Amino acid sequence: RPARRGRAEAKNDAGSGSGSANSSRATLLWFRQDLRLEDNRALHAAADTSLPVVFLFVLDDGAAGDWKAGGAGRWWLHGSLSSLAASLEARGARLILRRGDATAIVPALAAEIGAGEVHCGLPHEPWMRKLDEQVAAALEKAGRRLVAHRVATTMDLDAVWSKSGTRFGVYSPFARACRAAGAPDAPLSPPRTLACPGPQPSSDALDNWNLLPTRPDWAGGLRNSWQPGEAGAQARLKRFLDGHLDGYGASRDAPGEADGTSMLSPHLHWGELSPNQVWHAAHDSIGGSAGRRAGFETFESELLWHDFSAYVLRHNPALPDRPVRGAFERMEWRRDPAALQAWQQGRTGVPIVDAGMRQLWRIGWMQNRARMITASFLVKHLLLPWQEGERWFWDTLVDADLATNSVSWQWIAGSGIDSQPFFRVFNPVTQSRRYDRNGTYIRRWVPELRELPDRWLHAPWEAPEGVLTEAGITLGQDYPRPLVDLSEGRNRALAAFRRIAGPDKRTT
Ligand code: FAD
Repeated sequence: RPARRGRAEAKNDAGSGSGSANSSRATLLWFRQDLRLEDNRALHAAADTSLPVVFLFVLDDGAAGDWKAGGAGRWWLHGSLSSLAASLEARGARLILRRGDATAIVPALAAEIGAGEVHCGLPHEPWMRKLDEQVAAALEKAGRRLVAHRVATTMDLDAVWSKSGTRFGVYSPFARACRAAGAPDAPLSPPRTLACPGPQPSSDALDNWNLLPTRPDWAGGLRNSWQPGEAGAQARLKRFLDGHLDGYGASRDAPGEADGTSMLSPHLHWGELSPNQVWHAAHDSIGGSAGRRAGFETFESELLWHDFSAYVLRHNPALPDRPVRGAFERMEWRRDPAALQAWQQGRTGVPIVDAGMRQLWRIGWMQNRARMITASFLVKHLLLPWQEGERWFWDTLVDADLATNSVSWQWIAGSGIDSQPFFRVFNPVTQSRRYDRNGTYIRRWVPELRELPDRWLHAPWEAPEGVLTEAGITLGQDYPRPLVDLSEGRNRALAAFRRIAGPDKRTT
């Protein structure tokens, strides 16, 4: 395919301040969710100025408000920043860390080092976009400019329109338009040389940011599972392409299959590698294999879901908090803190749900099929608000991503863009029997059920007493009885939905 998808467009380039840029002494590179040196257009643009580059990361929890990084995200950020700082040091540069109001910090540092231009990645989170406007305005007043570069999507999202000139509200035509635009741009190698200023501005010490948990230290499972940073991202990509691209179409739905998916999501969220790098590495690895080609095509669709989520959030900034379909504002969600806590802790009594929730707690990540099942169970069988689940995922996922998380939760709830209808209720036992047929996933994460035969593993409450005794299980003691009768839960959800649905059962 012709390489037409990308083009290195730069945004927010106010055009003013070029006089000042000419008399600049340095360039400022403001890292955010693009914590990498490879294929980083902002970094290239900064290096291309041939001026000394100052590298900055600002932790601005105030601007992020409710959506500041959660616990698992902060753990990841610590590792990622420390890896980026080491990579920069190896090139004779330094990462400057500052904490506080970016609208003050960025313009002040630009003034201190005499930078006419500040380069950064183009965000899609509403709070970051607002921040960019404020920073750009503050810089402009001083004759400087902010230049934002696409770093996190394969497509220029502002250039994706339907043939009739409207925005896409449905994934499939969006994906078709993206595919028709050709291959994403080939990745850029890191600039060969980075000119750094002599005396460096002052920096906070990363350890003083207290991003890592201490009392209690709950991050043992995260440390054992992940290597944040560019090297870890590359290693994960290689492992996936060496082993699992062939057959990805099936393995991506099998939560028990080790490495059945790429596990690149936290690396992609923090921008330790770009979707373009992933796309090209996967594409180049197809060779002549029909199986790998089929795997690649499914994998590409997932990368496009990532783009689509960012696109949807850009055009629906209220998405993380409010249902897109207005009727869902009237949904009579239940309030049940005990049920919510049981779900969070993986004690619902439904094994596949508990397996997913415990995987999330232990390693900060959950397989996609399990995310769909656990989310559906919360929203439908427990009839608890999707925002509660979204918040819990936000705090516990290392890949917590405002766009993907909110699009996915609203997809499950039926309240979003191109969602599955609310009345389609996943039966967790049927899902479990289909996708975790031999119980590998359940046995791994819910070890107290390990001895139950496959036949009863997915719904232990249906097992005869003798089978439970032989497996060493007393329900209600060693493992909970189900929080809700599955058919009662389903009917309760459907009844609540009927009360908000119009006569044709749609809720637009
Ligand atoms: P792979 O299968 O290897 O896919 C490759 C990449 O494609 C992923 O890394 C991801 O960037 C993208 N991708 C895959 N599936 C999806 C999807 N359904 N939607 C959008 N992009 C996708 N993903 C996040 O990155 N952050 C989140 O906060 C998040 N929250 C979710 C919440 C719910 C309720 C659900 C159902 C899904 C959520 N997802 C989220 C989407 C998906 O589950 C993860 O992206 C995927 O499991 C990550 O694993 P992977 O990297 O091995 O994916």
